[in-house]
Amino acid sequence: RPRVLSGIQPTAGSFHLGNYLGAVRQWVALQESHDAFYMVVDLHAITVPQDPEELRANTRLATAQLLAAGLDPDRCTLFVQSHVPEHAQLAWVMNCLTGFGEASRMTQFKDKSAKQGAERASVGLFTYPILQVADILLYQAHEVPVGEDQRQHIELTRDLATRFNGRFGDTFTLPKPYILKETAKIYDLQDPAVKMSKSASTPKGLINLLDEPKATAKKVKSAVTDTDTVIRYDVVEKPGVSNLLTIYSVLTGTGIPELEEKYAGKGYGALKTDLAEVMVDFVTPFKERTQQYLDDPETLDSILAKGAEKARAVAAETLSRAYERVGFLPAK
Ligand code: ATP
Ligand code: MG
Repeated sequence: RPRVLSGIQPTAGSFHLGNYLGAVRQWVALQESHDAFYMVVDLHAITVPQDPEELRANTRLATAQLLAAGLDPDRCTLFVQSHVPEHAQLAWVMNCLTGFGEASRMTQFKDKSAKQGAERASVGLFTYPILQVADILLYQAHEVPVGEDQRQHIELTRDLATRFNGRFGDTFTLPKPYILKETAKIYDLQDPAVKMSKSASTPKGLINLLDEPKATAKKVKSAVTDTDTVIRYDVVEKPGVSNLLTIYSVLTGTGIPELEEKYAGKGYGALKTDLAEVMVDFVTPFKERTQQYLDDPETLDSILAKGAEKARAVAAETLSRAYERVGFLPAK
């Protein structure tokens, strides 16, 4: 079975619709066909300041949401990144293989550091793509299911794996991004020019899966569309409407042409009312299932303990091979 690896940050508590449609939904599908490793990336979370108690709670909450979304610990390896120290260890080696200029070209860093003021951004935020490189290479992943915003980091992973293999001998598998065209980038409902993000400028554009379903319905109904009234998929001329059509299509399994036909001659109001209902039907049971997992922290923790053990077995083997190749003296 080919292997996949991906991660999600335990920041902000609730997952948003972009996380689900862009990534987690694919994770659930791929556990059937792939040897799948999925993790809650708490090391990545601390690239920006976190309250310790909140971080711990959010790590459990992220795990509960992954299970609620359909990850099955018998079909995949689900773990917390900090439980596997090899991530930080391999990241150091990769840091030393990366050019400063190369790291400076990462657009995610530019975007994220701009939000905080570049001077105040942590060095961890600067090098987090390199930690991500280590995350992926440790598991010799063939594919990495992520949203479009992560494509550049997978490219960096391929570059660094190639560099390491060239310099020290074949060690790492070169991964490919697994990015589905339809859901590669879900946009902010208030500003369809930017991706939906945990750090959205206004909460009105961000659909959090754990929000009150009523609030979610309201956000859908007040989504920004455009001045004419035709319901047509056209990402250039009609980004807002197209985003709604994408979400509607994926959540219901209805093709976009079918939706265009269904709403021909009807206004945006009809589309939004129906999509609000679709969304409520989706988030309501998701929220309930998440709560059920949260109510049983012992089971959660034992799932994560088993996951960490399985992950470490793979990660430790890769790390020791990499350490040896680099020329570190084995600790006997
Ligand atoms: P932040 O803005 O703090 O980076 P995030 O919303 O991007 O948070 P992450 O935990 O960084 O959340 O990302 C988890 C996964 O969700 C990644 O694979 C990412 O590509 C994907 N993702 C995030 N936002 C979107 C989006 N708007 N559309 C599609 N995929 C997305
Ligand atoms: Mg992100």
